[in-house]
Amino acid sequence: MNRGTHSNGDFEYRDGRRAEERLLEELSRVQRLVVLTGAGMSTESGLPDFRSPDGLWRKYRPEELATVEALFERPLLFYAFYRSRLELLDRAAPNAGHRALAQLEKEGRLRCIVTQNVDGLHTAAGSRRVLEIHGSLRKAHCHTCGRPHSPELLKRPVTSLSGIPRCPCGGPVRPGIVLFGELLPQEALAAAVEAVQECDALLVVGTSLAVYPAASLPQLARDRGARLWILNLEPTPYDAVADLVVRGKAAEVLGKLARERDSFF
Ligand code: NAD
Repeated sequence: MNRGTHSNGDFEYRDGRRAEERLLEELSRVQRLVVLTGAGMSTESGLPDFRSPDGLWRKYRPEELATVEALFERPLLFYAFYRSRLELLDRAAPNAGHRALAQLEKEGRLRCIVTQNVDGLHTAAGSRRVLEIHGSLRKAHCHTCGRPHSPELLKRPVTSLSGIPRCPCGGPVRPGIVLFGELLPQEALAAAVEAVQECDALLVVGTSLAVYPAASLPQLARDRGARLWILNLEPTPYDAVADLVVRGKAAEVLGKLARERDSFF
């Protein structure tokens, strides 16, 4: 195998354009597509990912912040972290990639999006069937009793323990996301597995495929005989078994899908 050449022979790193053209072709005729997205889907909307060189976890360690321990033992840091993420979210809008996926759904070719993102940008772009398997930053609830609260509560600065937003039951109000070590929403996860079992192709966009169980969905797709396409800036552990690997930017590449249609009509 040549250095930098994909083992399937379908893709050569030096010839990214060919892979990109093939992906766009496939997407314009696929019938039952499922898309798995990660933080890389939203970096072009101004939201940093976790593991890229300038990702969030280069500045903060996940085990320090996105955990139940942090909520109770380092609450000021915990609330400052999520407040800064909510501020970024207020300034973020769906990008051309989010919009292209919403369009594919409208055309009846995309069955659902399984997302690890907590930013709500797929729904904001018009996608209807979105499975948020890591929850949503656009929701908040009481950690103790589960009662829903407005996420606006999490935008206020917490500078002392008395400033922690509290439910009438006394429990702390927290973001509606899955923290490290917590169980994923089982209903959304089961629906994701079912969708992948029934798809013709799984398109993976902007995820390092380092976090399970999301990272097990590409293998499930392969086991069920579906095609596997990967669009990511950096290599992933599943590149070697994928039918097509495009090393590119999500919004830039998927945005071409809409532009190609515009030039057609
Ligand atoms: P990750 O940081 O591990 O991986 C992101 C991947 O996307 C990297 O491999 C990177 O090369 C690639 N990438 C970055 N910009 C890209 C672009 N423009 N186009 C294509 N690829 C690009 O993120 P992950 O795999 O989603 O990790 C999962 C965790 O990240 C989840 O817990 C998720 O909740 C959390 N997260 C979500 C958001 C968000 O909702 N926007 C932001 C940060 C982290």
